[in-house]
Amino acid sequence: MRYISTRGQAPSLSFSEAMMTGLARDGGLYVPQNVPVLSSDEIAALAGLPYEEVAFRVMWPFLGDTFTKEEFQGLIAKAYAGFGHAARAPLVQLGPNHFLLELFHGPTLAFKDFAMQVIAQMMQAVLAKSGERITIVGATSGDTGSAAMEAFRGLSNVDVFILYPHGRVSEVQRRQMTTVAESNVHAIAMDGDFDEAQGRLKDMFNDLDFRDEVRLAGVNSINWARVLAQVVYYFSAAVSLGAPHRAVSFTVPTGNFGDVFAGYIARAMGLPIEKLVIATNQNDILDRAMKTGAYKTDGVKPSISPSMDIQVSSNFERVLFDAYGRDGAAVSALMGELKAGGFTISQGALEMLRETFASGRCDEDQTRATIKAAFAGTGEVLCPHSAVGVWVATDHLGATPMITLATAHPAKFPDAVEAAMGVRPNLPLRMADLFDRPERVTRMPNDLAALQAHIRERIAN
Ligand SMILES: *Cc1c(COP(=O)(O)O)cnc(C)c1O
Repeated sequence: MRYISTRGQAPSLSFSEAMMTGLARDGGLYVPQNVPVLSSDEIAALAGLPYEEVAFRVMWPFLGDTFTKEEFQGLIAKAYAGFGHAARAPLVQLGPNHFLLELFHGPTLAFKDFAMQVIAQMMQAVLAKSGERITIVGATSGDTGSAAMEAFRGLSNVDVFILYPHGRVSEVQRRQMTTVAESNVHAIAMDGDFDEAQGRLKDMFNDLDFRDEVRLAGVNSINWARVLAQVVYYFSAAVSLGAPHRAVSFTVPTGNFGDVFAGYIARAMGLPIEKLVIATNQNDILDRAMKTGAYKTDGVKPSISPSMDIQVSSNFERVLFDAYGRDGAAVSALMGELKAGGFTISQGALEMLRETFASGRCDEDQTRATIKAAFAGTGEVLCPHSAVGVWVATDHLGATPMITLATAHPAKFPDAVEAAMGVRPNLPLRMADLFDRPERVTRMPNDLAALQAHIRERIAN
């Protein structure tokens, strides 16, 4: 199994190399050279299995010789042991033929735990074999940072530094990053906004001497291994509703397009998915692109679903690669145009995309109204991101079962949820002491040299 870059100029890599590399050297994203297909019988045999076993069977064909079967099963077991629900990704019903896939039972209460927990175990296992250490640095506006710290805490071959903009994350999000006790994870509250934090992260990756010296690695959502881990719950959910004998559709609250791209891979593997509905908030570049063909940036408008507040969706490049017949030069040209503000998707590519994807947007008032209506109609408390999905899904209900992904627990966004439905959502009991745990964080200026010195000093100890 080899992985190739969407821009066609970087060397092909093995699974473990693609996982450790993240972004390809030509600026592209790694995708499998061929997507393995599961037969109808193999898919049918997933019915009724524990989530961990489904994860093993879905991911195994992508891994090449990275691990033995027993090793990989052990890593999966560790990855999901800290989840607060025995089903890992339980499905509940919202209305006639409309289901909600609850992806918020992981340790940091967002779907990012599904991928981050597995990638942490896989990276640690690869590093333990070679005896190497790496330094992971990430910038976060909330969910990614806490998921990464929770996943990598206590692993012996990895140090993790997470930069977040001081004073600009929610209290639950901050505490999830600052209360992790293990000494290999480090929270940094940086003066500035999220773009500035991300800017310093990019500076570190562009400082090649520093990059080599600390063996810098990334775990942002363009990492192929993260996408792969998210393919699993499309299978587990579809099979519980009758796949492969019955097709299903999914609606996915979308930011960087990583989660919905995992659904696209599930479909390419043979899972009968009729439509993948892209749900955006008021930052609707993807909805506009699907409807008009124009992929044009338009500035970020802060919303109550902040994890979907994006200017451009990095993983969209991966479907464009397929829509343009896997022509790396064509993708490179589009990404060049994007730097200047946008591009128009060719008619042929747009038709190919519309065979698989539909889309819709949900504004702030609609998000709040959906939280209120879902609670009144079903008792289900939605986070604002999940509400965006439920609103958009409503336009696509029909004879095919619709599964909307619930991407975070409502208690991660208590102010927005309370404003919408009048009741403040509680943290799950296992996390109820979050506000009593001691915090550990270093406040730092927006200064590359100071940040680098801090990282050097910490990893030396
Ligand atoms: C990251 C995130 C999203 C967006 O997922 P993408 O893979 O970036 O499309 C949606 N909801 C929540 C709660 C998230 O944390």
